[in-house]
Amino acid sequence: TKPSAARREGGVIETADGVAIRLSAIINDPLELKAVDPASFAGIGLMRTEFLVTSPADVVDEERHYFIYRHALEWAGDAPVIVRMLDLGGDKTLPGLGARRSESFMGLRGIRLLLARPELARAQARALLRAAVHGDLGVLLPMVTVPDELDAMRTFFEEERADLSGSGVEARMPEIGMMVEVPAAALMLERFSRSAFFSFGTNDLAQYLMAAARDDHSVAPLYNAATSAVLRVIAQGMALAETMNKPIGVCGEMASDPRHIPALMAAGLRHFSVTPNRAADIRSTIGALCSDGRTVAERK
Ligand code: PEP
Ligand code: MG
Repeated sequence: TKPSAARREGGVIETADGVAIRLSAIINDPLELKAVDPASFAGIGLMRTEFLVTSPADVVDEERHYFIYRHALEWAGDAPVIVRMLDLGGDKTLPGLGARRSESFMGLRGIRLLLARPELARAQARALLRAAVHGDLGVLLPMVTVPDELDAMRTFFEEERADLSGSGVEARMPEIGMMVEVPAAALMLERFSRSAFFSFGTNDLAQYLMAAARDDHSVAPLYNAATSAVLRVIAQGMALAETMNKPIGVCGEMASDPRHIPALMAAGLRHFSVTPNRAADIRSTIGALCSDGRTVAERK
């Protein structure tokens, strides 16, 4: 193969003007890892954990969480794995946990639910602290709206870490970052200086910007018209993040759609997380563009 083709197969893609773009995998179910070649991705950019749990007992099953995260880290080798803490509520409900569907897109969802039910957050935090010993682990917090939520979750991690080491269990503090999927967080991004990294969630940004639920077919045309507003908010968030020097990427559906890659690159994004079956398309799209999102021909 030609060298340029080889560079487009892995997790780092070179643009037409020689800028490196990282492509990571989105994993919804640990069983998917069997079919994905780790050499094709710069690790896992979003591992959803909602689908690991089918009952409230699973949620607090620390061993089960630990086993799965450790397996993902072993799959990735030296590459980073970003595990998102439970994003229950909204479209991802779990009978018995109290979060009902439509009330909860704007209600007790994501980190709000985790902070309201600390036993859920603490079991997952302990598993993540133990798994972090086995590789390059990042923890992503869903639905963060204000900095206090980040601080409260950090405190859980610190307390659980102290408890684990008190019992002689090996543990390590992972990097803790946040989803940028609530408009207020994107517009106030400089306030989240304690977040280690950021990941734009375009699926939720779209629904909250348009006031159109992502799973309500009757407002699908509105939801689908969100692109320009989402891009504007992302551009503003990127401008605020510029002086913060933090890793920042996109893990929503927009990054899996080749039509949106030029605008995302123009906004300055250099890290995309995509569902593995969309990766080939995204890889060739990035390889054909310059880092400002224009083709070589458009630049002339
Ligand atoms: C998003 O909101 O864009 C996202 C990636 O998270 P989820 O789709 O799981 O809500
Ligand atoms: Mg989301």
